[in-house]
Amino acid sequence: MTQTNTDILPINFYNTLTHSVEPFCTVEPGKVFMYNCGPTVYDYAHIGNFRAFIFGDILRRFLELAGYDVTQVMNITDVGHMTDDDIADGGGEDKMEAAAKRLKESKKSGVADIDNPDDPYAVAEFFTDAFLEDAKKLSVAIAEEHDTNMPHATAFVENSMIPMIQTLIDNDHAYVADDGAVYFSVESFPEYGKLSGNTLDHIRGGAGGRVEDTHQASKRHPGDFLLWKPDTTHIMKWDSPWGVGYPGWHIECSAMARSVLKRDVIDIHTGGEDNIFPHHECEIAQSCCSTGQAHFAKFWMHTRFLLVEGTKMSKSKGNFYTIRDLIDQGIDPVVIRYELFKAHYRSNMNFTMQGLKDSASAVQKIRNAAAKFADQSGNQITQVDNNHPIIKRFLECLADDLNVSGALAVVFEFIKNPDEDTSTPSEALAVIEKIDHVLCVLKQKHGYKDVPMSVHVVNESEALCKQLDEARANKDYATADKVRDQLNEMGYDVKTTKEGTIATKRLA
Ligand SMILES: [Zn+2]
Repeated sequence: MTQTNTDILPINFYNTLTHSVEPFCTVEPGKVFMYNCGPTVYDYAHIGNFRAFIFGDILRRFLELAGYDVTQVMNITDVGHMTDDDIADGGGEDKMEAAAKRLKESKKSGVADIDNPDDPYAVAEFFTDAFLEDAKKLSVAIAEEHDTNMPHATAFVENSMIPMIQTLIDNDHAYVADDGAVYFSVESFPEYGKLSGNTLDHIRGGAGGRVEDTHQASKRHPGDFLLWKPDTTHIMKWDSPWGVGYPGWHIECSAMARSVLKRDVIDIHTGGEDNIFPHHECEIAQSCCSTGQAHFAKFWMHTRFLLVEGTKMSKSKGNFYTIRDLIDQGIDPVVIRYELFKAHYRSNMNFTMQGLKDSASAVQKIRNAAAKFADQSGNQITQVDNNHPIIKRFLECLADDLNVSGALAVVFEFIKNPDEDTSTPSEALAVIEKIDHVLCVLKQKHGYKDVPMSVHVVNESEALCKQLDEARANKDYATADKVRDQLNEMGYDVKTTKEGTIATKRLA
């Protein structure tokens, strides 16, 4: 039976599947089963990746505060994500193997920690550890549940993916092509395209070039996508009824969501907007066709792109940041967390150094208020529930399609004037602590006070690039060379352009 949640808190979320804001309801009363598309562990995750992960975290924590029992699962993709997976047929090279080759070729600082940089399993383990470390620093709750709720794709090939592919073949939703690969037949699923708008007519028309129809001549329809790729030369490989090989990326999420959440229909599935097509469109097709259910996830929620200083983040522009780049610059992880959740998830986010500064001061304000309440109350906390006027307003904002900025406005109004809605410091402390279940900006390990908020938001390379440009303008080539060497030593590739020197942090 479907529960409407008016008895708890009316919640409305934008559902990508229906392109509209809908009342949120769960399959089982009081319980939320949620799957978030996780990282492909072939490199350090960047701030754009983490925007989506922190969105999933805020969503989970909000639902928990609202009274739901939330089971969250986030996968670790450690095989089968191809370099050409932005088109729906799994062409190109496995990202893990490509990374292994890359790391082998350039064994630079940082990767020295990898025992075997040419082994994709070692690469996966190295970047999984790095991801978990970053996620924990940013208080992403699922990282603490890694052992149970963060399935690794390589561990689910035999018992989940292969049986699911077999079911799809048995039900005529998939076929073995002349080249030996197994493809999903998009024509067998009339709903294909509902999520993304890339319906079969659309694909056949070739509009937008969303599918490749040249190099996979053995496919029945250009939109058919890879489920199994026989390849005995692939390092990560498994026996299957279709030969030794490895699974496609899309089948991983369908299979792991079902295996770990232990149900055919889940409540929420999230990802970045670049996951909508082909990845999530393909997941829906596979899951519905193998379970026979009309739905895979009831709600599909997607974060928009992240820009840096108004432009697309790219390594060549030198505006590409991993979490550790920022932490290395002295930015407190809690500030990064705040910066990444403060904009609405359905608007493009512009990540700026000024924004980080603003986030730092916002976090400090919340911490100062909590410290004051703790001092005044002698660290005594009274119990408050969700009917407390501040908590209620905070939750109501989040219930409005996760309106974080509205919820933050409630927090700042409250800390400016705590006496208006609370009668004692211990009540005020309880309110701010409860709110912090979602925000997670208060404590870390330091307590409220004297938290080092060392926010040096000037990129460490900026001043040096400027110095280099000045030296060159003054024809002081000795200094220019010295600064260039210094940047190289710090791990930057230095490029001279018309606009001046650009220093790009080398991939570790
Ligand atoms: Zn996925």
